[in-house]
Amino acid sequence: MKNRVSLQVKCPNCRRSLMDEEVKLHGAPSIKLNIMTPEDRGTIHLCSVYECFDHVSDIPLENDTVVEFACPKCNKELLIQEECQLCDAPMVSFVLQTGGRVSFCSRNGCSNHYVAFEDLSTELSKFYDEFGH
Ligand SMILES: [Zn+2]
Ligand SMILES: [Zn+2]
Repeated sequence: MKNRVSLQVKCPNCRRSLMDEEVKLHGAPSIKLNIMTPEDRGTIHLCSVYECFDHVSDIPLENDTVVEFACPKCNKELLIQEECQLCDAPMVSFVLQTGGRVSFCSRNGCSNHYVAFEDLSTELSKFYDEFGH
């Protein structure tokens, strides 16, 4: 069984934390974002555990819908100029508290996501300090 790692992310624009300590998913603080679909707008909480992209949203999300994500603090959209290699939808990107970034596809139901650490060894040793056994 792999160690479960909770990613701490912040807005690439205003640099404020996107973590919501009050709403936990899988026992870890969730990532809170504003979302917009063609029909509706609402908020979403994403699981922050690495490689788990469970989420809870307060509006219905149809499969295959491209969702717009925005920072709840500064309202700036988090979509970047990069397309998903699986489905061509725009990618969404956050900055990790410890450096590096995490990106995922804005299309609901697409499983494409990846994490790019600027310094993998620092990041991993921090994880093991916090979560290691
Ligand atoms: Zn922001
Ligand atoms: Zn995709």
